[in-house]
Amino acid sequence: MISLKTPAEVEQIRAGGKIVAEILRGLADLIRPGVTTAELDRWAEKLIVSKKALPAFKGYRGFPATLCTSLNEAVVHGIPGSRVLKNGDILSVDVGVKLGDWYSDAAWTYPVGDVDAESRRLMQVTQESLELGIQAALPGQRLSDIGHAVQKHVERAGFSVVRDFVGHGLGRQLHEDPQIPNFGAPGQGVRLKAGMVLAIEPMVNVGGYEVRVLEDQWTVVTQDGKRSAHFEHTVALLNGQVEVLTR
Ligand code: MG
Repeated sequence: MISLKTPAEVEQIRAGGKIVAEILRGLADLIRPGVTTAELDRWAEKLIVSKKALPAFKGYRGFPATLCTSLNEAVVHGIPGSRVLKNGDILSVDVGVKLGDWYSDAAWTYPVGDVDAESRRLMQVTQESLELGIQAALPGQRLSDIGHAVQKHVERAGFSVVRDFVGHGLGRQLHEDPQIPNFGAPGQGVRLKAGMVLAIEPMVNVGGYEVRVLEDQWTVVTQDGKRSAHFEHTVALLNGQVEVLTR
């Protein structure tokens, strides 16, 4: 069942979304060669706590950290640690915040120093596909129009869309209905309605779409070892428009 949020509830998610946006902005300055992902995690947790909010991922099904930090061939759910970022890496960071009773969730992929042209194109195409997915999330459209818009853009660029992980509704729970695949034919699924709050999150691979989970039980990597990018926003469907709450 998809829960619809009132304007007052969307306002509360908007407040949490601002914290998420502040973290993603701040990380752009902090991410550089020589930094460890654990340092980034500590910084983000401090900022979240200073806003009287909670890190949404920490403790979620046993996840041990505030951020998911997924490097190069890692797609999602990487665990921060002592790994030192080096020039040419790309790092995907996913962050969720709980403010009051409400969750918000977003992700961004950052270059570390100077990265190669293919990685730059991967990040650009993935970010563009998120924007196209958001533009497709209009009240009156169908759910699968979102994933269709993402997939069309990604595959036209010669990249592939991850199938095993999807976007989701959110609100009082971090993951609510509906699931939002980043692929599929248009015009399928539920009709989108004002009051829906959705996390749209394309995960895009340079090579094949197949992924596997590492021995740490969390980190998802590409099967072929090629790079992956991940961009995500929490959006609210309002009357006749879609608002990004984590911009
Ligand atoms: Mg999410």
